[in-house]
Amino acid sequence: MGFLDLIFPPRCGGCGAYGATWCAGCAAQVLWLPPGTVAGIPLITVGRLDGPLQRAIHRYKYRPRPELATALAECLAGVVRTVDVRIAVLTFVPLHASRERERGFNQAERLARRLGQTLGLPVIAGLSRVRATPAQVGLGEAGRRVNVVGAFCWSAAQPPPEGLALVDDVCTTGATLAAGADAVARAGGSITAFLALARAQTLPALAVTLPGQSTCP
Ligand SMILES: [Zn+2]
Repeated sequence: MGFLDLIFPPRCGGCGAYGATWCAGCAAQVLWLPPGTVAGIPLITVGRLDGPLQRAIHRYKYRPRPELATALAECLAGVVRTVDVRIAVLTFVPLHASRERERGFNQAERLARRLGQTLGLPVIAGLSRVRATPAQVGLGEAGRRVNVVGAFCWSAAQPPPEGLALVDDVCTTGATLAAGADAVARAGGSITAFLALARAQTLPALAVTLPGQSTCP
């Protein structure tokens, strides 16, 4: 334990207990979900957006506690290592500059950079927001999709590389991730996988197929 840990002992993002930024008790409560797909692309998450995981993500983004990125990225890295998807490079969902100034950091970028360090993968800032979109919170599925259509473009000097994975903090309807993949496709590339900390329990049937389920009811 370092000197700063004695003055500011780490607190769990899930339950607030002192001692670790993500405690074993909260880790044990994560509701694991099998990989699904969004717009035909594998979606890899730590688990369902619920309980301690949801609270930790909320604290990470809104309190804000950017240092929680390290522990949360470790959780996601653990899942990424178990899946059979070839990921070579990470990129992330961009925040509009005004919102990034407000929050002080882009939660998806910070997560991607920690994940890159843990997995030994390069991270590139490839996507840009073409326009500011209203916050997705409080919008229904259709509203979210309309809200982000055409919101991104691929602005890096290099074309999208092979084995590119797109990182975001949460996947609620899949609309943001799908819009990111669309921007990469317009630049002549493709997304190999979406990586997110958590996924909402229900995702729209049109965009998402879960293992063992058909897209038709
Ligand atoms: Zn905890």
